[in-house]
Amino acid sequence: MNITGFLLMDHEGEEIEADAHGSNIAFLCFDCGYPILASTLDEQRGSDEEHPSRCRSCGAGYFLDVRLHAEKLYIHML
Ligand SMILES: [Zn+2]
Repeated sequence: MNITGFLLMDHEGEEIEADAHGSNIAFLCFDCGYPILASTLDEQRGSDEEHPSRCRSCGAGYFLDVRLHAEKLYIHML
């Protein structure tokens, strides 16, 4: 799933600073600011609740919620 150009938001719908390219997105941990990488591809880290991306600094978990037709992406914390 290509998310380049999507509107990137946190779980509250606030637009965030992030870099989306192809099926990957880089953003900063909402808690500690450490860089996090996530993917929309099935079973890759961050793709869903069962496969979260973990912050390597503080351990916070994240997963992506893509709204394909609206071209929006929400990042949820576990
Ligand atoms: Zn963190």
